Amino acid sequence: MTTDNDNTPCFPIGTAAVMLGVSVQTLRLYESEGLLIVHKTPGRQRLYSKSDIRRIECIRHAINDEKISIGGIKRMQAMVPCWDIIGCSDAERNACAAFTKSSGGCWTYGHTHSRCAAQECRLCEVYLRSGECTNIREMIVSSTLQKQIASNERPL
Ligand code: SF4
Repeated sequence: MTTDNDNTPCFPIGTAAVMLGVSVQTLRLYESEGLLIVHKTPGRQRLYSKSDIRRIECIRHAINDEKISIGGIKRMQAMVPCWDIIGCSDAERNACAAFTKSSGGCWTYGHTHSRCAAQECRLCEVYLRSGECTNIREMIVSSTLQKQIASNERPL
């Protein structure tokens, strides 16, 4: 369970790297690949929050223990059905790159003309929930199950 306090940017990149046992370059790579969104101060300093640290721990677990590549993690993030979670209409969904493409999480696409334009992705439910280790699978599976139940409930 994430609290507002967990999302407060507070750790400089060097501190985050030490906490996680990785290099600064590795953290920059994850960011440039779109696996996470790092807060930047007006002076362009990167600051990591506690939930960023947990998100990176999950990424490290996927890479080191489950042998999933960065490309594989991006594909998994792309499968999160954000349109179901935030309740897009069919028309909004069909016009959105997050629905039509599969190269990364919805936050990696521009959303200047959709309802997402008003939301900071870093603080969005979809982004935050997808950062917890077991959540991506649950988000994908529960959406699929809901669709199956809905289609089975349709009258013949
Ligand atoms: S606001 Fe960003 S993270 Fe949330 S659903 Fe839209 S694109 Fe995804």
